Amino acid sequence: MGRIDALGEGVQGLHLGQRVGIPWLGHTCGTCRYCHTGHENLCDHPLFTGYTRDGGYATAAIADARYAFPLGEEGDDIDLAPLLCAGLIGWRSLVMAGEDARTVGLYGFGAAAHIIAQVAIWQGRQVYGLTRPGDRKTQDFARDLGAVWAGGSDEAPPEPLDAAIIFAPVGALVPAALRAVRKGGRVVCAGIHMSEIPAFSYDLLWEERQLVSVANLTRQDGIDFLSLAPKIGIRTSTTRYPLRDANRALDDLRAGRFEGAAVLVP
Ligand SMILES: [Zn+2]
Repeated sequence: MGRIDALGEGVQGLHLGQRVGIPWLGHTCGTCRYCHTGHENLCDHPLFTGYTRDGGYATAAIADARYAFPLGEEGDDIDLAPLLCAGLIGWRSLVMAGEDARTVGLYGFGAAAHIIAQVAIWQGRQVYGLTRPGDRKTQDFARDLGAVWAGGSDEAPPEPLDAAIIFAPVGALVPAALRAVRKGGRVVCAGIHMSEIPAFSYDLLWEERQLVSVANLTRQDGIDFLSLAPKIGIRTSTTRYPLRDANRALDDLRAGRFEGAAVLVP
């Protein structure tokens, strides 16, 4: 999140002082087969903010103007920041779950799930929150946000799900989620990394269940989601950390010491 204090030559549609957000996907080549076919999220030569493109963890950054999303003046920087990463990957995952998915299970009810649950409910879907077994606090959090049911990932939701999205980087959740979806249902893996998926019996996949993954985002995802977010009135739950405490933020995340999203403030 930041404000534009200089514009490169030829940049159009943005102005000095404007508040923008830079997502994880910071640049694409525009020439590879994926860029040419509407799949720039799979670009062969991408740059990722704060990873292969510097400035994601800094007080000033140079951004590719095509990947700087205007965010208006409504709302606080801290509250909006999670939309740029957790929100966008959650959005793409929800789209991948399919428009006809009326019942959606969210495995790992953290930053992405707490945002996308609000979107799914606004769209008229029923959300089921699945957390670490015994994590009552997060299950209450999911119900507070409107989940019709919340329980441990080792429990079976009360009815077969149309789709499940796995946000937790835990391979063992893949067979668990396949077990929870109905015939023809879809399981979407939303993480970049996941621990090894244990072997499972083919009958969990049979009957046309689908297992897919989501990678990155497209600019269209950004436009679609960020224009919808204010209409839905998404409220993020955030815990802020100074940048020097980034490792503590990760530690707290692993230990489940906060609900929602952690936000680093350089
Ligand atoms: Zn490309």
